[in-house]
Amino acid sequence: MEAAIEPFDVIVAGKGNAALCAALAARDSGARVAMLEAAPVDESGGNSRFAGGVMRFAYDSVEDLKRLCDIPENEAGNADWESNTTEQFYDDLYRVTSYRTDPELSEILVTRSLDAMVWLRSQGVRFSPNYRHQSAVVDGKRRFFGRMPMWITGGGPGLVQDLTDAAARKGIEIFYDTRAVSLIYDEERVLGLKARRQGKPVDFQARAVVLACGGFEANPEWRARYLGPGWELAKVRGTRFNMGDGLKMALDIGACPYGNWSGRHAVSWERYAPEFGDLSLPESSYRHSYPMSLMVNAEGRRFVDEGVEFYNYTYAKYGGEVLKQPAQFAYQVFDAKVKHLLRPEYGDKRVTRIVANTLEELAEKLEGVDPEGFLNTVRAFNAAVRTDIPFNHSIKDGRCTVGIEPPKSNWANPLDTPPFEAYAVTCGITFTFGGLRVEPQSGQVLDVNLRPIPGLYTAGEMLGGLFYFNYPAGTGLVSGAVFGRIAGTAAAEAAKTLTQSR
Ligand SMILES: Cc1cc2nc3c(=O)[nH]c(=O)nc-3n(C[C@H](O)[C@H](O)[C@H](O)COP(=O)(O)OP(=O)(O)OC[C@H]3O[C@@H](n4cnc5c(N)ncnc54)[C@H](O)[C@@H]3O)c2cc1C
Repeated sequence: MEAAIEPFDVIVAGKGNAALCAALAARDSGARVAMLEAAPVDESGGNSRFAGGVMRFAYDSVEDLKRLCDIPENEAGNADWESNTTEQFYDDLYRVTSYRTDPELSEILVTRSLDAMVWLRSQGVRFSPNYRHQSAVVDGKRRFFGRMPMWITGGGPGLVQDLTDAAARKGIEIFYDTRAVSLIYDEERVLGLKARRQGKPVDFQARAVVLACGGFEANPEWRARYLGPGWELAKVRGTRFNMGDGLKMALDIGACPYGNWSGRHAVSWERYAPEFGDLSLPESSYRHSYPMSLMVNAEGRRFVDEGVEFYNYTYAKYGGEVLKQPAQFAYQVFDAKVKHLLRPEYGDKRVTRIVANTLEELAEKLEGVDPEGFLNTVRAFNAAVRTDIPFNHSIKDGRCTVGIEPPKSNWANPLDTPPFEAYAVTCGITFTFGGLRVEPQSGQVLDVNLRPIPGLYTAGEMLGGLFYFNYPAGTGLVSGAVFGRIAGTAAAEAAKTLTQSR
């Protein structure tokens, strides 16, 4: 056992976005704060560091966006910035979660989202307009689509770096290579964490603890247990450190599980990607351009409506559809007409791409796919496209198919212009939806009798009840910021009250 470490007011387990927001909010409330990060420095930052960095928050117009970064007048006036009003944000969140999202949590998320972004900026996080994705110049005017016109400069790595710099400026102590293993709990309140620091046991005493140490996405045994058979075979898009430890230690002292424990965010992902995310090439395995494709499985059959919505409302559930296919893979097939619309990573070196000049040649080259099944699918698909409806990738254009199952509802194009390109994908899991139940206004964890557990708070992926079945893109980081801030502030207040009462 290492020498005892002086007690802290607040200890935060984790060092991703939610943890950093909690730690900064607690520090700003006057608490002495420490963070325990399971990963060594070079792998620290959790899934937040792997994130693309797009943010979904409520805004009425470009005037709200100007609170996050300087947008010159000519740029502000010459673009259609859309809006994501609180009503639109609610509608999206409720629709994609099949109306299961917790009303109180989702209200807090939506109504405090812009304020949380402004707060992030005040902590040193830099924002810029999201010109890279889901924006295009149409008839001389830039147009954003998908209700996420801003991203964090530098993406997830930029976010984690900016917040880490803020933590250092404010004197928050970070213990790396320190995995929290259990809560110190006297049957009345949480008094700290037992951890393993560089492999050795060490106790951290605290007046309040915030658990923000991610879901169980990196744990194949838990995935098979809670998500179902086959999920142990998914690739992990992000960190290898989120093993469900925080959930386990909270459940062990009687915390109440909440939310969609068999649910998860999982996408189409490079078939031969490494087992976990790679920080040196964070986006190279993304395959988000499938709404422009025809997706087929090993039998050569289509299995989803690729174009039912913009990708940011379907990508998080379609990974699970790929996992259900024979041998857990699919191909996204494009022709030359839409090649220029593919995201840049499709041109990356580490991509499984097959190119052919005829459909017959492509059918022979698609490894593991029934060639006749594939050709039949393409013939039926090509004949079903409503080519009388104009194609426009920047709106839901209604250019659909008729008479085939599943239909394609938008952006349908006959595959007829060589060269043809096919990209092999499998399922990549992002994070899990099952979490803990909290008192929404404070983030304090509730026990199985729905009584608050003194001294215990949570945020981020560990918060249950927000996401069910599916997820609107850009909401994970916003959730971590909103609820991390709430949990950190409440934990600092609890620590203060405890100090005063002793
Ligand atoms: C490839 C990818 C792209 C994404 N893109 C976006 C995007 O553009 N926009 C968006 O909103 N969301 C995105 N997400 C989702 C988003 O990253 C997550 O929802 C969010 O980062 C979760 O934050 P968190 O702080 O809860 O968890 P994490 O950031 O994963 O942090 C968890 C932390 O806990 C640590 N930890 C784990 N176990 C322990 C333990 N026992 N003790 C101590 N520490 C522990 C981990 O090392 C890590 O530091 C993306 C995710 C991935 C993987």
